[in-house]
Amino acid sequence: MQAVKITAHGGTDVIEYGEYPDPEVGRDEVLVAVKAGALNHLDVWVRRGLPTLSLGMPHVPGSDAAGVVREVGEDVTRFEPGDRVAVTAGVNCGDCEFCRHGDPTLCVNFHLLGEHVTGVHSEYAAVPEDNLIPVPDGVDWVTAGASALVFQTAWRMLIDRADLEAGESVLVLGASGGVGHAAVQIADYAGAEVYATGSTPEKLEYAQKLGADHVVNYEERSFPQWVREETGKRGVDVVVDYIGAGTWQDSIKSLAKNGRLVTCGGTAGGNPQTDIPRIFWNQLRIIGSTMGTPGQVDDVMELVWDGTFEPAIRKVLPMSETARGHEIIEGREGFGKVVVRPDEVY
Ligand SMILES: [Zn+2]
Repeated sequence: MQAVKITAHGGTDVIEYGEYPDPEVGRDEVLVAVKAGALNHLDVWVRRGLPTLSLGMPHVPGSDAAGVVREVGEDVTRFEPGDRVAVTAGVNCGDCEFCRHGDPTLCVNFHLLGEHVTGVHSEYAAVPEDNLIPVPDGVDWVTAGASALVFQTAWRMLIDRADLEAGESVLVLGASGGVGHAAVQIADYAGAEVYATGSTPEKLEYAQKLGADHVVNYEERSFPQWVREETGKRGVDVVVDYIGAGTWQDSIKSLAKNGRLVTCGGTAGGNPQTDIPRIFWNQLRIIGSTMGTPGQVDDVMELVWDGTFEPAIRKVLPMSETARGHEIIEGREGFGKVVVRPDEVY
């Protein structure tokens, strides 16, 4: 089969599309004929290399995909050939203290398809049954393959970890990014007053369309100052920050007393300066979040399937142009998801 492969860690020139051995289907696995799958910022990290990540090369990346079941392993009970499915990337052991207490995202062996093990950006992918969710008829492949990672991440951040309630205020940084544009929609759906930042008038207009009530161009104005003005000096209850270095201190400054800063990543760097006096005096909470539980995935994907939430699609490319997709993400061009499709079905 044909697959996207990274041959080493480095720039976009390490990405290839070509022959790769057909996957073998394990007892609890499903063979999926992939129709479409989104890139995530995670794919860029995996390509560049992470200190904690040791991968065999070539490595097939990709944590989001959707397609049609081609074959099922003998222990598979939930799916049969012909079913439409989407991938959810988190893999847990089912056996550790945290899995046994019902939260697989806390699993001590938690890992992601595409990051730590073979991913799904290939013509065929063998995926554990537990990592598939049904896709209703009528949902297009691009939507189905673009939504799971960012929508489950933003859902868990806001609804579970930050415990967002109707009437509270939320600031979403980078409202045009994958997680950002999901967070704006979810915060609006939850009945929050939504503040959003972006870098161009088009991105801000788009954030408003998704449900942002207040928007600011962070390249023209200091956003904590803007938040103070807009909220009568109070600050917001929740900040969603996946950027990290460069925004962290300003996120802390934007919070009201007793506010919560929730993070799922640091796309611009993971070790910013912080502000301990402000954290204790204002009694702030700093909250980490990763992916979502199967129940959280079901809850949020139901709302994607029925059209309540919608992934924005920046660009759909053939898998042979995956390197171009990485450039779009790294250049922060446009908004929403970059999706790749096997050249055969593009
Ligand atoms: Zn576990």
